[in-house]
Amino acid sequence: MESFFHFAVIGAGASGLTAAAEAAKRGVSAVVIDNLDPPAAKVLISGGGKCNFTNRNASSEHYLSANPHFCKSALAKLPPQDVISSFERGGIRWEEREDGKIFAFSASDICKFLIGRAKEAGSVFHFGKAAYDVERDENGFLVSCKGGNIRCRCLLVATGSPACPAAGGNDFGIKLAEKFGLGVIPSAPALVPFRFAETAPVDFSDLSGIALPVCIKTAGKRVKGRLLFTHKGLSGPAVLTASLYWNAGEKIVIDFLPDDSPADFLKKLKARKDKRKTASALSELMPQRLAARFAALLPKDKREKPLTELPDKLFSVLEDGLKRCAFIPSGTDGYAKAEVAKGGIDTREIDSATMECRRIPGLYFSGEVLDVTGELGGYNLHWAWASGTAAGRAAART
Ligand SMILES: Cc1cc2nc3c(=O)[nH]c(=O)nc-3n(C[C@H](O)[C@H](O)[C@H](O)COP(=O)(O)OP(=O)(O)OC[C@H]3O[C@@H](n4cnc5c(N)ncnc54)[C@H](O)[C@@H]3O)c2cc1C
Repeated sequence: MESFFHFAVIGAGASGLTAAAEAAKRGVSAVVIDNLDPPAAKVLISGGGKCNFTNRNASSEHYLSANPHFCKSALAKLPPQDVISSFERGGIRWEEREDGKIFAFSASDICKFLIGRAKEAGSVFHFGKAAYDVERDENGFLVSCKGGNIRCRCLLVATGSPACPAAGGNDFGIKLAEKFGLGVIPSAPALVPFRFAETAPVDFSDLSGIALPVCIKTAGKRVKGRLLFTHKGLSGPAVLTASLYWNAGEKIVIDFLPDDSPADFLKKLKARKDKRKTASALSELMPQRLAARFAALLPKDKREKPLTELPDKLFSVLEDGLKRCAFIPSGTDGYAKAEVAKGGIDTREIDSATMECRRIPGLYFSGEVLDVTGELGGYNLHWAWASGTAAGRAAART
C-alpha cells in the first residue's frame, strides 16, 4: 500500500511536529512518521520533566557548528518571545529561571501541545512505524515505512541525533544524508558528564554530591556555572556546557573560586593573626571536604600548621591549584548519558533560510540532525522550533 502527501516528515519530535504544523496550516497535505508511539520521547524527558523549551538569550553565540553563521537566519525569524507567546496561547504554563531559561510546568503538556497543534492543522500521523529507507525519483521521494510506503514531493528528515538511545536516539538521519552523498561532521556526545582524569592534580574521589560555582576553560571557551561531583566524574550545568566545546584528549582548566583570590584571602587572615589551619580557613570559601583536598596540595609538614606559620609563597601554590586546576578528563559518559550529539549533517549543504538541501531540491533537514548544537539552557529545543518552522513554511511554498 502506498499513500501520497505533499510533505512527509520523518521524526515526530520537537522539530518535525513543528514543521508539520507550519506546513499543514498553509493548506498542504502533511504526514508525520515516527517509530515510537507516543513519539517525542526526548521532549517528554527534557529539563527533568519540566522541558526547558527556550532561552531569552537564544542567539548564534550559544551554538556550536562548523558553519557558525548558518543558524542566524532561522533564529532571527523565531525570537524566544514568539515561542513563549505561541506556547502560552496553546495553554502552556511556564516560568523563567536563571540565565534566561524558560521552563514549562510539565514536559508532557508540551508533547500534547506539539501533537495537538500538528493534528489541528491537518497533519496525518503514522506513529509506531519506523521509516527504514528513502528513494528519490522524478516525482519526489518514496519513504519505505513499516505498514505502508509513503510518496511525497517534499521530505523533511527530523530524526534527531544518536544521543540518549533509551529515548529513541539514533543515526538514521546521518546514514540517510550519507546515502544521498551529503557531507557529515563527525558526531560526538555533548552536554554530557566528564569522567575523572586518571592523573588529576587533586584527589577528587568520594566527593559525590558536592556542588559549587566554577569557571571552566576549554578549547578557547570560558563557561561559568555550577559543577557537581558525581561518583565517576564531574557534572552540573557548567560541565555539561563545557563538554560541548571539549574534544577528546584536550585539557580543561577549572577555577574553583571564580570570584575570590584564595592567596589574598589567606594573607589577610594571616595578617589578622588567624591561627586556623589552611583547610579550615578555605572552608569559608568552599565546601569543607573539597577545601581539605586542596589544602593537601601543601607539603605534608605544613598542612597542620596555623596560617601564621606559613610563608606567603605557599598561598600562591594554593592560588594556582584552586584557580588553574588543569587536567585531561579520561572521557565522557557517552551517548547513553548525553543530552545531545554535536556534529551532524554539514550545513554548507543546506540553505539557511529554508533548511532545504542545495543539491537535492525537495529534501529538507531540521533540528539536531544538523550540525548545529546548542549550550545547555533551552537552546537545543529553540533550534528545533526555529529550524522546523523554517522547513515547514518553505516546504508549503514549494
Ligand atoms: C535527557 C534529555 C534532556 C534534555 N533536555 C533539554 C531541555 O530541557 N532543553 C533543550 O533545549 N533541550 C533538551 N534536550 C535536547 C532536546 O531534547 C533535543 O535537542 C531535541 O529534542 C531535538 O529535536 P529534534 O526534533 O531534532 O529530534 P527529537 O526530538 O529527538 O525527535 C526525533 C524523532 O525522530 C524519531 N525517529 C528517529 N528515527 C526514526 C526513523 N527511522 N523512523 C521514524 N522516526 C524516527 C524519534 O523517535 C523521535 O521522535 C534534552 C535531551 C535529553 C536526551
